[in-house]
Amino acid sequence: MTARRPLIAGNWKMNGLLADGRALAAGVAEKRKAFGESAPFDMLVCPPFTLVTAVVDAVAGSGVEVGGQDCHTAEKGAHTGDVGPAMLKDAGCAYVIVGHSERRTDHGETDAVVKAKAEAALAAGLKVIVCIGETLEEREAGQTLDVNKRQLNGSLPAGASAENCVIAYEPVWAIGTGKVATPEQAQEVHAAIRAELKGLVGGIAEDMRILYGGSMKPGNAAELMAQTDIDGGLIGGASLKVDDFIGIAEAAG
Ligand code: PEP
Repeated sequence: MTARRPLIAGNWKMNGLLADGRALAAGVAEKRKAFGESAPFDMLVCPPFTLVTAVVDAVAGSGVEVGGQDCHTAEKGAHTGDVGPAMLKDAGCAYVIVGHSERRTDHGETDAVVKAKAEAALAAGLKVIVCIGETLEEREAGQTLDVNKRQLNGSLPAGASAENCVIAYEPVWAIGTGKVATPEQAQEVHAAIRAELKGLVGGIAEDMRILYGGSMKPGNAAELMAQTDIDGGLIGGASLKVDDFIGIAEAAG
């Protein structure tokens, strides 16, 4: 197995006005710079669309990359309120998150839609973070592994590679709730995802990063990321505070 470099990714969701976004990005950038070139992780922040340009400017030269939180499947056209992947790329994004559970719930996004978005993003030269995860009801019904495998099969874009695609396992019951999966619960699902990936992309699966997301904090990050198949975090609430986000990155080292 090749060593997988942890990715510490912040999902700011619908938070931040210009001044807040600039300050948060500048704070993260400054601390990231202090790690120097030998930082043992990659770092990404995904602000709302309105802040992408300002954040790209604020993190320039720091080693922090910027991503969008969603994109449309089409390159351009009559899709009021949507943003195309080429627009994100043009604005300086390197990544886009697709299939976050809040998109699946709030906007009825199916696996097929998520896959189409991911393929459009890859075609535009973006890297994708494809989110999957079970609800509490599904976990309690003993369907966790089946649900994650089904979402993975349905959402993984054609052409996915270890360089252009990251999977994020985010149990819905752990997102923004303060309830974190135990390291053992998370590892069990990550290992099942990697095994399923092997069937889908072969040996590439060993090099593809699988992030954990769901109430990750500086206090629980080290134990989670010490698990064999956990290759970093997709972080919501804790990515809105410089010290918490950086504290999680420190736990990856
Ligand atoms: C997320 O929204 O991707 C997430 C993991 O949120 P939180 O860290 O707040 O649970």
